[in-house]
Amino acid sequence: MQPTFYFADETEMLQFGQNFARYLQSYLAGDANAAFVIYLNGELGAGKTTFTRSIVKAFGHQGNVKSPTYTLVEEYALPPFHLYHFDLYRLADPEELEFMGIRDYFRPQTLCLLEWASRGEGVIPAADLVIQIDYAEQGRKLHLYPQSEAARQLLQKMS
Ligand code: ADP
Ligand code: MG
Repeated sequence: MQPTFYFADETEMLQFGQNFARYLQSYLAGDANAAFVIYLNGELGAGKTTFTRSIVKAFGHQGNVKSPTYTLVEEYALPPFHLYHFDLYRLADPEELEFMGIRDYFRPQTLCLLEWASRGEGVIPAADLVIQIDYAEQGRKLHLYPQSEAARQLLQKMS
């Protein structure tokens, strides 16, 4: 199952993200040990940060959602959950992630969203879900590739 969605503009993507976030929340709420990892793939400007912004806001964050281009990670404490937004574009060496204590980020009741996850290959945990965002005429196409049983069940509930 590889659902595809088309968004004519940013507003449509934000609406989808908000709805999608509800399924993520209910999954995390349903199991105290649950965590979820999303890789966001796509070219610069495709909408990875925009999509993440919609998720972070839907989880209850009220302020800005900055792109973690220079910091590598932004943290959002949104009780009872924790969100981490990574952008590994500027990561020089995956070893930097070891120094950051990367494994501590991937714990129960957290949602991790990673842009440019490929730069951290071998060090970051596997994705539950890979989201591919592509330019499509004026808008964007989004493909969902579930990698875990949890992700497959989540997508089934959405459809
Ligand atoms: P990335 O993080 O993938 O580099 P950003 O989310 O920072 O990309 O930027 C995406 C840009 O594309 C934003 O300026 C956004 O307004 C614009 N945009 C145009 N059309 C869309 C669309 N249909 N969905 C999402 N973003 C769009
Ligand atoms: Mg970005």
